[in-house]
This record gives sequence, structure tokens and C-alpha cells, in this order.
Amino acid sequence: MRYAETGYNLEIDLTRGNIERVETDPKLTELHLGGLGTNAKILWDRVPPETEPFSSDNLLIIGSGLLVGTPAPGANRTIVSTYSPQTLLMGYSMMGGFFAPELKYAGYDKVIFRGKSPNLVYVWINNDKVEIRDASHLHGKGAVETQELIRRELKEPNAQVAAIGLAGENRVYTASIEQGRSSASRLGIGAVMGSKGIKAIAVRGTKDINLARPAEFLELCNDVLKYIKFRNENPVPNVMTILQGLGSPQEMLHTDEKWHTENFMWGNARTRRKDFWNKEIEKKWKETQETVRTRLISCYNCPIKCGAIISVAGLSTYMMKCFSKLTYAMAAFVDDLDFGFRIAQRASEYGVDGFSTPQIMAFAFELKEAGILTDADFAGCPPDNEGRFFWLLDRIVRREGIGDVLANGTHWAAQAIGKGAEAYAHNNIKKHEQLPLKLGMLNPVYFLMYATGEKINITQIEGQFPQAPFMTMEEREGFIKDWIQVPDEKFKQIVLDWEPRGERSNPYYPTVDMSVDIVDWQEKMHYIDDALGVCAGLSSFPLKPPYHMHNYPKLISSATGIGMDEAGLTQVYNRNRSLVRAINVRRGLRRADEKPPEDHWKKRFPELEENLLDAYYKFKGWNKDGIPTKETLQKLGMDYVAEDLEQRGIIKNEQN
Ligand code: SF4
Repeated sequence: MRYAETGYNLEIDLTRGNIERVETDPKLTELHLGGLGTNAKILWDRVPPETEPFSSDNLLIIGSGLLVGTPAPGANRTIVSTYSPQTLLMGYSMMGGFFAPELKYAGYDKVIFRGKSPNLVYVWINNDKVEIRDASHLHGKGAVETQELIRRELKEPNAQVAAIGLAGENRVYTASIEQGRSSASRLGIGAVMGSKGIKAIAVRGTKDINLARPAEFLELCNDVLKYIKFRNENPVPNVMTILQGLGSPQEMLHTDEKWHTENFMWGNARTRRKDFWNKEIEKKWKETQETVRTRLISCYNCPIKCGAIISVAGLSTYMMKCFSKLTYAMAAFVDDLDFGFRIAQRASEYGVDGFSTPQIMAFAFELKEAGILTDADFAGCPPDNEGRFFWLLDRIVRREGIGDVLANGTHWAAQAIGKGAEAYAHNNIKKHEQLPLKLGMLNPVYFLMYATGEKINITQIEGQFPQAPFMTMEEREGFIKDWIQVPDEKFKQIVLDWEPRGERSNPYYPTVDMSVDIVDWQEKMHYIDDALGVCAGLSSFPLKPPYHMHNYPKLISSATGIGMDEAGLTQVYNRNRSLVRAINVRRGLRRADEKPPEDHWKKRFPELEENLLDAYYKFKGWNKDGIPTKETLQKLGMDYVAEDLEQRGIIKNEQN
């Protein structure tokens, strides 16, 4: 019997219309857990590195995490993996909501799509019955609207539907896959879904998931719930509001947006509105948010309720995704939060990433101001700020006029436009728009997280270690007092010694070695969450979460029956981390790509940054170019990866 997982994947060949239920190898679960880990293994094994993202040979893997569908709170993530059209590297965006648990209850751990359908289709998975259905009547329909239309068509109100909007159909590089209150938005995976001719995947499942030691597992889950309750009643003091609680990132619970509006530099990340937040704005924004927020909601099996149903007068209802209420308003320099809620509704229907898309639009208007784009490029564009953002969003998702160039994101658009446009696409890492947070002094930990991260989204960049030093010793002692999540006591001493100014402050403190240790811890939690399907908002993202390195092995063991301890879990993490890296190395990723934007921090330290990268690679067992060495891969039981990289001549110079 298989525990926690179903032991079956659904393989769908869209070219031939073939559907197969395939038993998986339990050994791979022991080696990689599930979710991201086994997605990466499939991508490595089955998609040659030469494959173009929109080729029919590229796979679109819709995976559930290993603990998804069990009673583990917040274990609901769907991990979607493919080659990204934006970065040309592996994309592994994730969504919360309800899709992955339903998929497991239908009897599948993953759906793996290959080939391409000649016509637009949707897939209907109803337990053992799986059909590919015509979706020509859904052409151009919104991603949110499509979910409801399919549920009605199937007469199955409990079906969970993941859909793309017009952006995905038109292969816009920021296209998302939308589902319930969540979306898999980063790296253009919605465009890959569109390229395969899939409008939506609907699933209904009524089967059970087996647990190896149910009583023990339930007790551990109850401890997690108790801790969540404790944390909700005891917010972390002396940190900004958004970091005090759990959730990801609680935006619909909170109305205090001082931090985001004054510190994030939207409008193509050049201007910080330092005195934006005042009493009047605070009152207005609070009223707007509370008027449109009809109900706070959670993803599957989570008590946090950090999302909400939004009803704006005259528009259809939708569920707010991470930060979209702010990102468009900030990019457009609009003071009215109502604009944020209105444009986020249209963007959700189009199915686009709410982080990159506003940046692309602000980039376009900057190019116009600089005379690089002309009036002819904006013929028909309304003069007012709000109107022009709506207008440009429409052009991008339809790939009309200048929108066609912009639909490929700022990196590729700048290359196509030329005339110095590259200087305005200054916010990218690995060809993808990053978080437009422009800070003063380089923080060595976050330098490494930004530079080396391969998920390329905000939740991977942040972690369980504080982002800034506490001002007083009293605050530091207070913080470490009940810090049960630390994998090693040495991290407490770093917090105690870390000063806002002087010798023990950024950028030289935490020291290079300490920074690498902290990054390894933070990354480890992200990789484990992404394999288990646990929401980062309850684990790798916030301070003092309910899941950590000490309870995860017990949860995994009792759910799956796999003997797991902290050392074993670290080994799985190292394996998954190096496998994702090897996939991307095979696609051309090298040290030169691991560069945060030049103006990400005002004060940069080139020598220190090189030292940090050297130390990080060494710690990982990678060579100076960020490539896993043969010895490291062999130690992780991945000789097949070493052989492949050797055959391709990629690791021949590792001794140097
Ligand atoms: S913390 Fe928020 S995003 Fe995470 S599972 Fe719970 S409701 Fe969903």
C-alpha cells in the first residue's frame, strides 16, 4: 500500500489524445519526496535540455505535494513545472487553493501533459474517468469565468478547475494558471499551458488517502494547529506588521500598507514614495478594502484566511491574489486603492502575473517618456493614468501592436525594442522581473537568496531568519527566547550579535560563512515545503512558523512510513536542490546569471559579493561556476546526472 501519495500519475498525450494511468516508483518518493522533487526528476529524465518551451516535447507537469490531501494544515500546493519561456530555465510556480487535494482524492499525484492539442480543449478528471473535451466555446473567456462555466457545464459544483485566460491562450510570458483563490503565476507557465491547447483542467475526487501511522500523524497535525493558534494570539513584536503573523502574506487581513507603499519602488522601480502613507490615505484605503472585501477565505485545510472574496460594484466577483491590489496601483502611481481592486479583477480574468505585468506596463510608459517608444506605439491610448494602464493591459494580453513586444516581458522586449531600452529593464534576475525593492545597504543573506534562487519569486527570497537586526539587546533576547524553529543554536547568537550599525552590521555581518549557513537553512525549508506541498506562509516564509526542521521529519515518517530524520531530510533537500540546479545548468545557467539588479541596493560591494557566491557554491559542493561537481552528485546518489553533465562536457573542468 502507498501512504500519503496515491502512487499513480496521469499521463496525457494531447497530440494523440491518449490518456494513461501510470504507477509510480516508490523509491523516487524516498529520494525526492513529491511535488517539486519528483517533478524535477521527471523533467530531467524526459525533456532534453534543447527543448523549446513551446515545443510539443516540453512537458507541463501539474504535481501535488507529498502531504497534500492529508490532514496536515496548509498542505494544499499544486506545483507546476515546465521549461519557462521567460527565463528558458526550469519554471516551477505553485498555487494554493483546492486543486491539488482534489487531484489526490481523484487518485493521482500528478498530471503530466505532453504533445499539443490541435484545438482548444479542457480535461475533465472525475475519479477514474478522464476525458479530453472540446473547449472551443471557452475561447477568450476569463480564467475566473471559465472555472464557473465548466462547473456548470459538468453539473459538478464541487469540481476544482484550474484555467488560463486570454493571456495564456496568446502565450503571454507572464500568463498564469488561475484556480480558486490562488494562481501559479511566475515564469510564464500559463503560456506553456496555452501552447498545448489546454484551456482548463477540472477535477473531482472522492477517494481516500492512506496514512502509515494515522494516530501519530493526527497528533502532530493537532500540535501544528495549536501552534498556529498560539502564533495568532502572539504576533512577533518589534518587526513590521506584515512580518508579525503567519500567512502569505496576509494582505487581505491587513489594511496597514505603510511598509509596501513607501518602501517598494514600483513605477518600474525607480521612485520610492517616502511620505505616501498618511492618515487620510490610511482611512480611505481601509474603507475601500473593507467595502469590497465580502469575506475572508482560506485555501484548503488552513485556518489562516489570508485571502478574500472581492466584489467591486459593476464587476464580477473574484478572489484577490498575492499583492495584486497594490502592484498595479503602485506601478501607475495611482493614489486610489479602488483602481487596484478594479484592475486586479481584469488581470485575474486575463490570467497574468500580478508582479511582472505592472512592471512591464510601467517600463513601457518610461520608454515613451524617454522617446524610445513613440506616440504611434500608443495610438488610441487614453491620456489619464488609470485609463492608460487598462488600455495597455488589454494590448499586452491580446498581443496587439506594442503589446505584442511587451507580452514577452521587459528583458525580451528591451532586446527587441533596442535604442537603449535595455537600461530601463533594470529590475531583472535571470531574465525575469524581480521584486522591485530598492534598499540602501547590501544585506549579505538576501544578496545570496536573490542571486542564487531559482524559483524567482518573493516567497523563496524571504525566510525564517529576521530580515533586519533588532535595535536593542532586549528585543533580540525577546526574539530568541521561544525560537524553537532554529535548526542550530548558533543562529540565536547571530541575532544577538547583529547590530544596525558598526562592525557587526550589514554588509560584513552576518559574516560570509554565517550568511551561507542562514541561506542554506532558509532554502532548505523552501525546498522541503515545495516537495511536501505545504504553504510557504506556514513554513519557509514567515518568522516562527508552525512547521520547521524539527517536526517535519516526524510528520513525513508518520504520514508516509518512510524512516526520516533531520539528516535524511537534509539529504533529500540537497538532492532536490542540486537536481534543479543541474536541470538549469544543462539549460545554460552559470554564475554570470546570478546577479541581482545593479541598483537593487544603493551600496554594493563587488568583492564581498564574489566571496559570498564562492562560499555558497563551495558549501553546496558546486564548482566556481555554480555547477554541481561529480563528487557532490555521486554523494547524493545522482551518478546519472554526473554522467550526463560529463558527457555534455559541462563538468569536465571541475577540478579547476
Ligand atoms: S496561509 Fe494563506 S495562502 Fe497559505 S494555505 Fe493558508 S490561506 Fe492559503
